[in-house]
Amino acid sequence: MPLTLEGPRKLLRRLRELMATVGDRQERLDQIVTMIAGSMQAAVCSIYIRRPDDLLELFATEGLNPDSVHKTLLRVGEGLVGDIALHARPLNLDNAPSHPRFAYRPETGEDPFISFVGVPILRSGSVSGVLVVQNATRRNFVDEEVEALQTVAMVLSEMFPSDFLVSDAIEVGDVPRVFNGQGLTEGLALGHVVLHEPRVQVARLIAEDIDDEIRRLDQAVYELRRTIDELLRTEDLSHAGEHLDVLDTYRMFANDRGWLTRITAAIRTGLTAEAAVERVMGDIRARLTGQRDQYLRERLNDFEDLSNRLMRILTGRAVLASEDKLPRDAIVIARTMGPAELLDYDRRKLRGLVLEEAAMGAHVTIVARALNIPMVANVRGLLGNTQEGDEIIVDADQGDVHVNPPGDVVSTYSEQARLRARRLKRYARIRHLPAMTRDGCDVTLNLNAGLMVDVENLQASGALNIGLFRTELQFMVAAKLPRQEQQRGFYRSVLEAAGDRKVVFRTLDIGGDKVLPYMRLSHEDNPAMGWRAIRIALDRPGLLRYQIRALLAAADQRDLHIMFPMVANVAEFRAAKKLVDKESDRARKLGYPRPKNLYVGTMLEVPSLAWELDELLPEVDFLSVGTSDLLQFLFASDRGNPIVGNRYAFLSRPVLRLLSHIRTRASAHNVPVSICGEAAGVPLHALALVALGYTELSIPASAIGPVKRMIRSMNHARSYERMHHLIRDENDDFERSIRQMAEDFGIKL
Ligand code: PEP
Ligand code: MG
Repeated sequence: MPLTLEGPRKLLRRLRELMATVGDRQERLDQIVTMIAGSMQAAVCSIYIRRPDDLLELFATEGLNPDSVHKTLLRVGEGLVGDIALHARPLNLDNAPSHPRFAYRPETGEDPFISFVGVPILRSGSVSGVLVVQNATRRNFVDEEVEALQTVAMVLSEMFPSDFLVSDAIEVGDVPRVFNGQGLTEGLALGHVVLHEPRVQVARLIAEDIDDEIRRLDQAVYELRRTIDELLRTEDLSHAGEHLDVLDTYRMFANDRGWLTRITAAIRTGLTAEAAVERVMGDIRARLTGQRDQYLRERLNDFEDLSNRLMRILTGRAVLASEDKLPRDAIVIARTMGPAELLDYDRRKLRGLVLEEAAMGAHVTIVARALNIPMVANVRGLLGNTQEGDEIIVDADQGDVHVNPPGDVVSTYSEQARLRARRLKRYARIRHLPAMTRDGCDVTLNLNAGLMVDVENLQASGALNIGLFRTELQFMVAAKLPRQEQQRGFYRSVLEAAGDRKVVFRTLDIGGDKVLPYMRLSHEDNPAMGWRAIRIALDRPGLLRYQIRALLAAADQRDLHIMFPMVANVAEFRAAKKLVDKESDRARKLGYPRPKNLYVGTMLEVPSLAWELDELLPEVDFLSVGTSDLLQFLFASDRGNPIVGNRYAFLSRPVLRLLSHIRTRASAHNVPVSICGEAAGVPLHALALVALGYTELSIPASAIGPVKRMIRSMNHARSYERMHHLIRDENDDFERSIRQMAEDFGIKL
């Protein structure tokens, strides 16, 4: 006889009462199976629990031979129960023994029971057991019954404490796990997991009033659609942290009738709206997890995000973790994230960041580096295996993430963290001392910056100036193209915060991997070598002109340094310089604020420019070598692709000879030259550069201390001489030779 919906609701209420009582676990499980069998008018009800060794153990039964409890074991994939666990989906059969997967277990005495329905018990998207009912009569259970059984399975998994459904012999919960990814910044952090979009813990599972729950769902869905439409309308993409297409997909799902119908059906079985969202999500997650198809996996992520948003609306929680109370040692975990979202977190409490997806050049990585946050990315499967509040260690130097680490791992890392802190203290002691070699050669150490937080750190970092200010970062973290007044206001604050120190503003370097979400550039097969940086600026001069206007006005009686990115030949420099001159003339004629002195220079990061230096240098006020792009183009090796990006060494004959050539030409023309590629922040590289004769380096804040310490331990004249021998001589292992030089001369690396 098909079940009415009153049946499962009553059953849920009785289950809840049973849960509230204290008692032996086995006794309660026995009562549960009896209760379910009675309620569903089934001869048999059994619970199988999945053990960590992946065997499904019969834990309780009404109707099968009681002696088989804790004895009958099935592998995942074996028999009908194993099939349900393997595919995480229900099976509803009118004649179970005729199913090809049927595996007969004589000890259970299940011969007479022909009809069979089984559903997975899901916990956090993975199968933790199987709930089965069987009958002697041959009939299919109706959909409502299967639905009801799924609801009961969910209640079972949610209502018990996490270890209830697991065999005594087996430890679960805080299982230590190590994940390997890619360290995108450096450093080490110990703390507690904060899920960027936390999974909501559903506290209230069972509905008091079904109609009321359906009304709550309708309201929440309305609110969800409204917020998504709002995001799309305002294009506040930096705060959404998602790109337009993803939001479009969201909107599509938020309006998906199938999804909402399934949630409503789950409420009708007696669940609250939030529990119903969770249950449907659990089903989808269990079925799609492990999918090879990238498209399906991404859809799963979208569904997860959306379900989470919906649950947070239903439970009245903030949509993002950054709006909640953070622990003092927060390590934020997310699938992916935009730079502005990271900036939303309280920096005093943010210790580390782990993303399932991000690249070295991603904006969020640049921001994490600016904030000095250890960050590991490309960690697969972390989100499904961590919970809010888990203990976690992020080792960005090795790219490792330890979840619920055992005590000895914690103490090893704590010791490392202490050593690191000691090193940082050592750097702090030399913060106010000059980066001068033992024989009196003064090296200028500057900072690579792009955010206000970098400028605030200028003094504390021990750097002298800002040698590279990447202006595109303001554009990358903004929701829409910053207007001229906004640019001017920002540049003015930067200059004010920098005080007497020099700031070299690099004009917009967009395109390539630096994408502005609100500015759609057409698809290019090879964007790093495509329409980017100065090329866009010269083809569409409006953007550059406005930026120059903003810079000139912001400088107002201070010195202003402007530098162009990706210049490939002298003609491009001239064209860009002409725009600056024009704007400067315009400001003078109109009586607008202008800088006291204006210096215009260029980056050297496209190799071709190195062979026009005698023509270029008489026209520039300064030159700065961007080694990341320079090496990328010199070796034809994508800087953002880990497979080839590290294939060619910085310390190699072509690089050192090219850098030596650039330095020699700049000296001959008496033009200041610096290096602003991030690689100069590695002490061994910095040693090679200073030994080549470079005396100005612009590097990330975290590198200032180690590089300064190295410089203060070296003798310039001796290193210079050794280095020039090295690049002339037969030598194939420059790294080894330079390390040897450091050792011979007592240089601290
Ligand atoms: C470089 O290419 O080395 C450089 C400094 O510029 P960016 O890293 O911003 O491309
Ligand atoms: Mg560059």
